[in-house]
Amino acid sequence: MAKLSFAQKLKKLFTRSAVDDDFFDEMTDALVEGDLGAKLAFTMTEELEQRCHEKKVKDEAGVVAELKVLLSAAAKPCTLTPERDKVSIFMLLGVNGVGKTTTAAKLARYYSTHGSRVVLAAADTFRAAAEEQLELHGERLGVRVVSHQHGGDPSAVVFDAAAAARASGGALVLADTAGRLHNKENLVRELQKIDRVASQKADAGCYKKLLVIDATTGQNAVRQAEVFNAAVGVDAVVLTKYDSTAKGGVAFTIGRELTIPVAFVCTGEHYENIAPFDAVSYADEFLGR
Ligand code: GDP
Repeated sequence: MAKLSFAQKLKKLFTRSAVDDDFFDEMTDALVEGDLGAKLAFTMTEELEQRCHEKKVKDEAGVVAELKVLLSAAAKPCTLTPERDKVSIFMLLGVNGVGKTTTAAKLARYYSTHGSRVVLAAADTFRAAAEEQLELHGERLGVRVVSHQHGGDPSAVVFDAAAAARASGGALVLADTAGRLHNKENLVRELQKIDRVASQKADAGCYKKLLVIDATTGQNAVRQAEVFNAAVGVDAVVLTKYDSTAKGGVAFTIGRELTIPVAFVCTGEHYENIAPFDAVSYADEFLGR
């Protein structure tokens, strides 16, 4: 049987229980099921209970409104707008299979249609299919792809892509990177090298590190965020496969515990299935309102 979404659990909770201690205990369980992670689920329930107590809130609409305030404050939005005529580099980080290459293509389309020149950098030189995939996306989207030979130095790909962006009078470089976490030390070293090149080649303030996480992996995604944040730092998250999960609480955990904002949410395999993150409507959806 499919697991209930947090919104469905919440609905059930209000039909069965008065807003008392048991209600708040069950609220914690429901938040854990919604992928908030046990620690944040406990903290948030405590805060909710306190707010409801102070404001003498006991009805469904009141409790939901208080929870919405807490949730939308936990997930931090972040707008990434590349400046025209400057060289911006957005490095896409994340483990294999989360949707990095697909997200690079979606972002290429998104920013092209919003008036930016875009260059895709195939800096996952480890997985041959990633380079081929990116070339194909570039062809379909009419976006330039900079790639080197399979097995080449990924930082050299970023170097060349940044040079191409500079030569064209400024552009956004979207760099796909490798994500073989099972070889963590090598990966971290490789990412740190790309990081050094990107910091030097992008214009001031125009280099961002975006961690791509798969919403269906729940709290594993939080651990991935910790690892990548420790390795090179993460400026914002792109949440993928939100169409494939009834959960999505991970955005709140990453926002609140790691203070990393969410920039985009992806809801399918097509290029247009990407949208800037909006904390309030995301909280509404999580609450089923
Ligand atoms: P990478 O290894 O991180 O580069 O991942 P890929 O971009 O190759 O994506 C892995 C799989 O996830 C592919 O089958 C994609 O079509 C799929 N995928 C990526 N983003 C989404 C999304 O938002 N929703 C769904 N349903 N599938 C996605």
